[in-house]
Amino acid sequence: MKERGILIVVSGFSGSGKGTLMKELLERYEDRYALSVSATTRKPREGEIHGREYFFLSRDEFEKMIAKDELIEYAKYVENYYGTPRAYVEEKLEEGKDVILEIEIQGALNIKKMFPDALLLFVTPPDADELRRRLVGRGTETMDVIKSRMDRACEEAEGMENYDYLIVNDSLDECVREMHAIIQGEHRRTSRNREFVKRIKEDLERLKGEE
Ligand code: 5GP
Repeated sequence: MKERGILIVVSGFSGSGKGTLMKELLERYEDRYALSVSATTRKPREGEIHGREYFFLSRDEFEKMIAKDELIEYAKYVENYYGTPRAYVEEKLEEGKDVILEIEIQGALNIKKMFPDALLLFVTPPDADELRRRLVGRGTETMDVIKSRMDRACEEAEGMENYDYLIVNDSLDECVREMHAIIQGEHRRTSRNREFVKRIKEDLERLKGEE
């Protein structure tokens, strides 16, 4: 029987390089992971495609999904709904793939409550100065924009302690390998391998009896 996949939640500061990291992880180990595409009521940004970045829904459509229990979690974020469709996640976990949800902190904590064995990862740059440098960008942003991005980073830092692991994004290549290694390590936890432990104990007893 194929081992069920792990539900993985990835959050992180905007400016942490989370998006690039996810893209690289999925490209390198495409047979291992599945990325959940969320539903949202926010309008598509330029270049975003329905079904790729998000399923872009009307408020009415979104509320129908809530009513039919078709979302495993949802949250309101800056006046818009964001939620994770249930069917895809269930199907991929069943296939043995680790399913990644890239969601904000409120959703992450809801997932942990509902699925205590979900793995929560938080992506961060090595230090606050580096984050500031990345948020300031190429010197084209106004002081107001920079301030609001820094305020948002402070909000995003709330609740970091509730995550299982920090993913420090310094060098992309190393970071991708480290993230994959952390997830592989998770698969070997005894608490995730109850069946294996049970079987080997039974087999040992049986072999002992045959002596
Ligand atoms: P954006 O509008 O910039 O694409 O996303 C805004 C925030 O919503 C990000 O922090 C993103 O991770 C989060 N988000 C995206 N999809 C979901 C979802 O399905 N559920 C929750 N709770 N948050 C989401």
